[in-house]
Amino acid sequence: MLPSRASVVVAGGGPAGYMAAIAAAEAGATGLLILEATPEPLHKVRISGGGRCNVTHACWDPRALVGHYPRGGQALRGPFSRFATGDTVAWFAEHGLELVEEADGRLFPRSNRSSSVVDTLRRAARMAGVLSVEGQALQAAETLEGGGFRLRLRGGGQLHADRLVLATGSHPSGLRIAEALGHGRVPPVPSLFTLALEPHPLASLAGVVADPVVLELEPPSAAVVAVEGRRRGERHRQRGPLLITHWGFSGPATLRLSAFAARDLRQWGYRAQLRIDWTGGLDPAELEARFRAVRLEQARRQLGTARPWASLGRRLWLHLLEACEVDGGQRWADLGRNQQRDLMTALRDSRYAIKGRGPFGEEFVTAGGIPLGEVNLATMESRRQEGLFLAGEILDVDGVTGGFNFQHCWSSGWLAGQALAGS
Ligand SMILES: Cc1cc2nc3c(=O)[nH]c(=O)nc-3n(C[C@H](O)[C@H](O)[C@H](O)COP(=O)(O)OP(=O)(O)OC[C@H]3O[C@@H](n4cnc5c(N)ncnc54)[C@H](O)[C@@H]3O)c2cc1C
Repeated sequence: MLPSRASVVVAGGGPAGYMAAIAAAEAGATGLLILEATPEPLHKVRISGGGRCNVTHACWDPRALVGHYPRGGQALRGPFSRFATGDTVAWFAEHGLELVEEADGRLFPRSNRSSSVVDTLRRAARMAGVLSVEGQALQAAETLEGGGFRLRLRGGGQLHADRLVLATGSHPSGLRIAEALGHGRVPPVPSLFTLALEPHPLASLAGVVADPVVLELEPPSAAVVAVEGRRRGERHRQRGPLLITHWGFSGPATLRLSAFAARDLRQWGYRAQLRIDWTGGLDPAELEARFRAVRLEQARRQLGTARPWASLGRRLWLHLLEACEVDGGQRWADLGRNQQRDLMTALRDSRYAIKGRGPFGEEFVTAGGIPLGEVNLATMESRRQEGLFLAGEILDVDGVTGGFNFQHCWSSGWLAGQALAGS
């Protein structure tokens, strides 16, 4: 049953909305109502992390944490200094859910099931006295003289709220309502995607992981540099594991690159030049020293069977030999000066033409939303409209893959909740 008035209406039953409502109620606020458009709140939590929900990441220092947010960045220092990853772990523990860290720093529920996270949030909301109404979408919000909002719902219902939290994620309805209340919007673009190659010279290596590599992304041509005003030579750079797929490149380094370069890639029509340093960033002198050492120590062995270093994938090495027209049956002792130069160039500076986006990774987020400058980041209250609060992905904040997107939801939701209880 939908009440005709509520002290606080939270539009959007996602992680940010739930955290805002629970935190407010637990800190003493009453009359909280979550309005969720679909029949299933917390849907993205349920499908996240391949059904396991990567709740947050073991990056405990707010100064380091902000480096994982292509949009948000340093502006999040304040919010994270009040509620960061350690607080998330403690919060879930206090609410009966233990989070477990994996080797790469991602934190998952001990059950390895996202339903545990959904159940924890729903139970906490119920116990704190938060009312949740599903299948009710907020369509419009008008301010009332003397404060508060008249809310119109899709399907004709209405109610009054003293304060309103917009936690509608990247859904256009929330952004439209915020705009009507005086907010601007940074246009949305996709983030966290893989990169497609055409032609794909490495197609036969699909499934190979190279770790670490250095990736550098540049515009497809100098003309684009001139149009979009980036300084010539300025590049997006990432270091980490790369997965070669049958369409191009995936893996953590690629996803991170796509996130930090999301806006540029959109502007370039998802065409770009990708430079791969398969050595992971060795300088030319170090690489030359390695070649010298293998030539001495493995002089009689064939190039195809002895790689310049052990962790360089065998299939990748054979591919590079072939691309440089060097016979894998040749002995290291017979490697010519020009052949060595070509191989070193291929290892440090292979170039590939990116011709589009590949499929999304496990996580998908949108860059863009309400500019952070329009929000008081201590309280998440709008600077444009008193009584309006904003939390989660509706803001122009997005993180790289690994639990950082949920972390921002927990942090911004918790801050909004504290402020709602205090005001
Ligand atoms: C497949 C997938 C996997 C992911 N995995 C991870 C992961 O493992 N770790 C991680 O950190 N991030 C992950 N993410 C990203 C993460 O899910 C989002 O960043 C996060 O859900 C954003 O939370 P939110 O509460 O801001 O918005 P949402 O989760 O989008 O919730 C918004 C809610 O508002 C509702 N709504 C929209 N408009 C209205 C309206 N007008 N009225 C009422 N209700 C409305 C929606 O139905 C929705 O339930 C994943 C995303 C996807 C798509």
